[in-house]
Amino acid sequence: MRVDHLIAGKAVAGKDYFETVNPATQEVLAEVASGGDAEVNAAVAAAKEAFPKWAGLPAPERAKLIRKLGDLIAKHVPEIAQTETNDCGQVIAQTGKQLIPRAADNFYYFAEMCTRVDGHTYPTPTHLNYTLFHPVGVCALISPWNVPFMTATWKVAPCLAFGNTAVLKMSELSPLTAARLGELALEAGIPPGVLNLVHGYGKEAGEPLVAHPDVRAISFTGSTATGNRIVKSAGLKKFSMELGGKSPFVIFEDADLDRALDAAVFMIFSNNGERCTAGSRILVQQSIYADFAARFAERARRITVGDPLDEKTIVGPMISQAHLAKVRSYIELGPKEGATLLCGGLEVPGNLPDRVQRGNYVMPTVFADVDNRMKIAQDEIFGPVACLIPFRDEAHAIELANDIPYGLSSYVWTENIGRAHRVAAAVEAGMCFVNSQNVRDLRQPFGGTKASGTGREGGTWSYEVFCEPKNVAVSM
Ligand code: NAD
Repeated sequence: MRVDHLIAGKAVAGKDYFETVNPATQEVLAEVASGGDAEVNAAVAAAKEAFPKWAGLPAPERAKLIRKLGDLIAKHVPEIAQTETNDCGQVIAQTGKQLIPRAADNFYYFAEMCTRVDGHTYPTPTHLNYTLFHPVGVCALISPWNVPFMTATWKVAPCLAFGNTAVLKMSELSPLTAARLGELALEAGIPPGVLNLVHGYGKEAGEPLVAHPDVRAISFTGSTATGNRIVKSAGLKKFSMELGGKSPFVIFEDADLDRALDAAVFMIFSNNGERCTAGSRILVQQSIYADFAARFAERARRITVGDPLDEKTIVGPMISQAHLAKVRSYIELGPKEGATLLCGGLEVPGNLPDRVQRGNYVMPTVFADVDNRMKIAQDEIFGPVACLIPFRDEAHAIELANDIPYGLSSYVWTENIGRAHRVAAAVEAGMCFVNSQNVRDLRQPFGGTKASGTGREGGTWSYEVFCEPKNVAVSM
């Protein structure tokens, strides 16, 4: 199969092609066009040309087309989920039941919302001030390889709904479902040029896209290193930077331990541990630490690792052999730094079905006796590797939670309501979930602080990157 760029509503062949590979089988799934300056320039030009007409459509008409795109995604969930699972290794139980249906919801939500954009008024005795929210123009949308379709639609839906046009660049490791999104957008009746796709590598396709003078806003999700590079090279543009994380999952001795265990297991092992909001540093109060560690490791040992197309599989393959090597290097490092390996490790998972014998697999791994200053606790491993870190009391928990460059998500488990609010306020993170795993509400501000990024997206927070507020002052 060949996958081309989508520019001005037409499939555009690449000068070169790269292969996208199924991480469970190493089978080549497609040859994908590899873009550079020429394709980026053409895609930005197409988006610029399409902008005035699209921005000028009354919001209810844009909403109708965007809702239709949601319907088409909903209609094709099984097909898109299977492609996503094959392309990036996320297990079918998640892509089919959660991630792809949620992508349709992104379009429904922002279709509704764009018809309700309101403004503010600031009356004074001499003037009436009011705000208008205009679309920004051409937006560069850049996605990582983990949960690619959900992440891409989380950007495309508000971008288009608010009247902007887009050039979307997916990760070179998982481009297939977004290519399908481009086709479905045209089928929904979204005019050519409103959503363009340039495939390719960060250096060749990503860099010219973010630096392009006609690109007015960048919504980027990816690593902190790339985010920093983009901020330096892109010049004066609107930014939303959704970057890496190493989120604390804090469990106090009075927590409902059964529920906390369920959530802790979910937050580090679901999505193969390749999750920006993973609760990868599990801070546990000393009095319950030994009991929790034993029960957590027992649960991790029972996790089914296997074929991502099997509904029963919880942990599938890592996205690439390079990423597998990175995750394994941290598993090797843990004991050298003094951590105790409770389960998992470097052993290859046993009992893998024949079809996936060559997959990029790693066992769900749990380290105990982790010191927060160890590299396994400070670096984003982005795999199914949990670090259990003991703490003494509330002050110590907050100190450890914040002793990290990142600040994306956080989790606090306690039955003490005062403590829950105190810790939620004190933790340096864009989001805090109390007695809960990560639950997404499309109205909430999603994003992080410190090295986890700048800007927020979701609900009216998406105005920040996709709308240009203007104040109009009328003399009375
Ligand atoms: P990455 O930074 O390597 O790549 C992300 C995207 O940027 C890819 O499309 C890549 O091709 C492109 N890119 C690379 N260099 C570029 C450049 N110089 N200019 C423009 N584009 C460039 O990240 P990844 O490995 O694909 O994704 C994993 C990372 O994403 C993790 O750190 C994870 O935490 C983060 N992430 C964050 C969130 C969030 O919402 N905060 C969500 C998902 C993933």
